[in-house]
Amino acid sequence: MERLEYLKIEYKHITEVNRRSPFPLVDTEYVEMVKQEIINVMEKINYDNETIHACKHCKSLYIKVDDDGNDICHRCGSINEIVEYKDIFEYKDKCNK
Ligand SMILES: [Zn+2]
Repeated sequence: MERLEYLKIEYKHITEVNRRSPFPLVDTEYVEMVKQEIINVMEKINYDNETIHACKHCKSLYIKVDDDGNDICHRCGSINEIVEYKDIFEYKDKCNK
């Protein structure tokens, strides 16, 4: 399947899942990432080198760097416990998203 086609189906699926649920079942950050990826593919932005950073513990993508350069997970509060994925597909695969 073509990458863009796949992303569109994925996006439709996850937004629908979240709409039917009283609270978002799918990480809203992941939804945003898929959306951004669709834009990237459509605009033919070179995303090949774009790695993804997620928390080792809770798999959250909500990672912020503090003033001292530490990676802080804003979901579970872990510090510098980051896993790097080569792209959104690897993240999805490994994290069962
Ligand atoms: Zn975390």
